[in-house]
Amino acid sequence: GASADTGTDVVVVGGGQAGLAAGYFLRRARARFVILDDRAEPGGAWGDYWDSLRLFSPAAHSPLPGWWMPEEPGHEYPSARHVTDYLAEYERRYDLPVRRPVAATGVRRADDALEVATTAGTWRARHVVSATGTWRRPFVPDVPGRDLYEGRQLHTVDYRSPGEFAGQRVVVVGGGNSAAQILAELSEVAHTTWLTRRPPRLMPDDVDGRVLFDVATRRTLGGTDGGVGDLGDIVMVPSVREARDRGALKAQPMAERLTPTGVAWADGSTMEADAIVWCTGFRAALDHLAPLDPFDADGRIPLDGSRCRREPRLHLVGYGDWTGAASATLIGAGRTAKAAVARIAEDLGASRPR
Ligand code: FAD
Repeated sequence: GASADTGTDVVVVGGGQAGLAAGYFLRRARARFVILDDRAEPGGAWGDYWDSLRLFSPAAHSPLPGWWMPEEPGHEYPSARHVTDYLAEYERRYDLPVRRPVAATGVRRADDALEVATTAGTWRARHVVSATGTWRRPFVPDVPGRDLYEGRQLHTVDYRSPGEFAGQRVVVVGGGNSAAQILAELSEVAHTTWLTRRPPRLMPDDVDGRVLFDVATRRTLGGTDGGVGDLGDIVMVPSVREARDRGALKAQPMAERLTPTGVAWADGSTMEADAIVWCTGFRAALDHLAPLDPFDADGRIPLDGSRCRREPRLHLVGYGDWTGAASATLIGAGRTAKAAVARIAEDLGASRPR
């Protein structure tokens, strides 16, 4: 079991790709550190994605630092399972000290250190890297009538495969990639309706994750701050392209409210539905940082690079572009982690990661 009141240089909270990338550079910096992850198994959120999910880009374009993802035999775009296997092997390869399952419940200031309270005792550290991702905080918009609706409601995080919805009337809400991909496969077996707040923006067919990462790289190198969304929001993976060609990707404006049996629009029209799938995104999972009071009036954490302005011993890696360009992607996590660990190593007086 984990020991209480353990002292170390750095505690990394979260053992997904972002936490592992931080671990890689902490090893190279010869820092003493531990990675705490609340899951039983390696892989972070990749272990929870729906069954058919594949990466946006070929394996060679989705590397963590040091050891690149091998190809998945027979598949140009690797499966989520392949990514979890890669992350599990990555941990072993670099002998990363991941403790599982250990959930961080609160990070506090304690004299000259930060104290990380967990489900397995308390760690003291000179620095904390938070890499808890967004999957633990699904977001559902506050649409009136949500509590009145008697059908089934689920979020992206609850969805695994289309089979159980066969023959049902299913409403998919959301204008991003999760919605488009889940809609694509549901529409093969169910009567689907797609609701989006604004018309969905499909990327050109020949744009995949490679192009998105190139855009992110240009931004890292000092380009514009325009989102990757400049290109559109939805990557036309094969299942989504096929659904579009079938005519299954026609979106309707978002409903005004839910009724006990379906949805209703402002003009009085209604539609019945057996299930509503909220593919409405995520927020950063930051509850454990609340005791540090790192938030501004808008509820955001102001950063210098990945370093928290209100608590310079705290760094954030992953989550989204606000912690570093494409920081929430496999290829971007390494860049942000490298920069964060360089700052930490300066403070620790240890050797810098090269
Ligand atoms: P996570 O993988 O969520 O890891 C965080 C870890 O911290 C988890 O194990 C979590 O359980 C744990 N944790 C959370 N809170 C605590 C706590 N308080 N204490 C301890 N542990 C905690 N990126 C790409 O590069 N290519 C793609 O093709 C791609 N496809 C995607 C498809 C989907 C559907 C989604 C949602 C994302 C996709 N991404 C893709 C983006 C990104 O790669 C993933 O979201 C990735 O999982 C983010 O990694 P992370 O380490 O930041 O977070």
